[in-house]
Amino acid sequence: MGRRGNVAVFVPHVGCPCQCSFCDQRAITGQAAPPTPEDVARAARTAARSLGGGVREAEIAFFGGSFTAIDRVYMESLLQAGAMSVKEYGFSGIRVSTRPDALGGDLLPLLRSYGVTAVELGAQSMDDRVLALNKRGHTAAQTEDAARRVKAMGFELGLQMMTGLYGDSDAGALHTAERLLALSPDTARIYPTVVLPGTELARLYSQGAYSPQTLEEAVALCARLLPLWEGAGVKLLRVGLHAEPGVECRALAGPYHPAFRQLVESRIFLNRLLAELERLGPGQYEIHVKPSGLSTAQGQKKSNIKALALLGYQVIFMQDGSVGPGGCRILQEGKGTI
Ligand code: SF4
Repeated sequence: MGRRGNVAVFVPHVGCPCQCSFCDQRAITGQAAPPTPEDVARAARTAARSLGGGVREAEIAFFGGSFTAIDRVYMESLLQAGAMSVKEYGFSGIRVSTRPDALGGDLLPLLRSYGVTAVELGAQSMDDRVLALNKRGHTAAQTEDAARRVKAMGFELGLQMMTGLYGDSDAGALHTAERLLALSPDTARIYPTVVLPGTELARLYSQGAYSPQTLEEAVALCARLLPLWEGAGVKLLRVGLHAEPGVECRALAGPYHPAFRQLVESRIFLNRLLAELERLGPGQYEIHVKPSGLSTAQGQKKSNIKALALLGYQVIFMQDGSVGPGGCRILQEGKGTI
């Protein structure tokens, strides 16, 4: 099961018309059998039993390469199984993830007829040069067209973008985020690019033609991207690759971290706190934060405390139930609350 108890059904590479530079689905496909309608029904039944009333918050989610580009009969058999599980157990709907160029013809009406409620598009970049370099096989205009049609038909729209793609830059990723936000998505996912064996990127990396982002670069960039999405009211379903067994050992290089999102949220907190403290000047401070936000505020291995100390701010964090989520109250030694 996935996030929020979603029934996550992984449909491997079978529908992909191309081979994106970073993707190792082709290497993985064949190691695991594609899911059958019975697998979907079984997973839904198991999830419904363990979720109880929570089933109404969960979805049947078809993830993987390009759900709407797989064989039509096979796709409809999976959708049928999903639709029957929604009816039988009361899941909130069906989510599919696909390529922007795989939603033509009657596909959107077909998805609707099976009760699909959310469509996620793998946009990855909105720069045609970067898309071509990474062999995505679609353009930014196709992403815009697909996103508008998804919205117009009343589906929840999800958009996925990547950072650190071959040929991309921080400015490029920020531009991608701006163009994607203009499409008014409901949800988003941000994935830093990781080099996996057997991929085009691995070849470029071994030749010295591609340098992945460092973890620090990816965290710093995502700490600029997240506030853009969240400020626009977009729900970020994921930041960083899934912490699934195997990614860590498979990755040849790149900014993989099992708690990537927390690193980013800690950095955002640090950036905001620093902006306040710079106004006040170096000194000793007590920073009150919501108890559940303490570890994010301090940073992993107290990295925020150490970074602040290097800049002349001696900081102690205190748990305070009266402080709102993500916020803080600053007390300066000898001056009280600021
Ligand atoms: S469309 Fe998705 S699954 Fe298919 S090759 Fe590209 S990244 Fe991989």
